[in-house]
Amino acid sequence: MATGKAAKKRMINQHCSVCKKDFDMEIVEGSGSNNDVIWLKCPGCEGFLPYMTEEDGGKASGKGAEPTELAPEDLDNEEREHAKEYMESGEYAVDDVIYHRSWNDYGKVVSKEELPGHRKIIIVNFVNQGKIRLLEGVT
Ligand SMILES: [Zn+2]
Repeated sequence: MATGKAAKKRMINQHCSVCKKDFDMEIVEGSGSNNDVIWLKCPGCEGFLPYMTEEDGGKASGKGAEPTELAPEDLDNEEREHAKEYMESGEYAVDDVIYHRSWNDYGKVVSKEELPGHRKIIIVNFVNQGKIRLLEGVT
């Protein structure tokens, strides 16, 4: 007799290290929505274990679209030509290309922040220096 509760449970096959067996495990309802962990219930030991989403070992490089590295080829000649020279007193906008004279380095403004006391900073992704926070609008 089949039960009337023909719930379509989502199942994931995973190895249980307690039972030392592979099972089709039921996904615990509500998991995976508030955080990244999806919990599975092992039918063998009734224990809960997290679903290994990156079991291939490939470390995904975050979800954020925020660039971490700027490759020299990401700035074409035109962008370098129109780069604004960085000065503390200057004001810059996100996506502005900046030239830092003392480092002889080009970078792109990736974001801006405002600190207490009306201090403003820009976060610049430099080709050589990497991500650097710089002051702007210093009077
Ligand atoms: Zn188990």
